[in-house]
Amino acid sequence: MLTTLRMSCKIVELIEKRITCPYCGEDWIALADPSAGSADYVEDCTVCCRPIVFHMDVDADGELKMLIPVREDD
Ligand SMILES: [Zn+2]
Repeated sequence: MLTTLRMSCKIVELIEKRITCPYCGEDWIALADPSAGSADYVEDCTVCCRPIVFHMDVDADGELKMLIPVREDD
């Protein structure tokens, strides 16, 4: 399932997570929204603009456990 991260009217708590782009290898801070639970979503790399698939794992308390960036073609 692919979920697109989007801004909405409700206040969401975004988690800052340092990730490494699987394409260009640059580190940058991704913003994850764990409020909707575990999800996969695509966000373009801020450096090389290629689409990174994020596997977000959220536990039962709504805490972000893992945010794993992978290439779209993996
Ligand atoms: Zn990149």
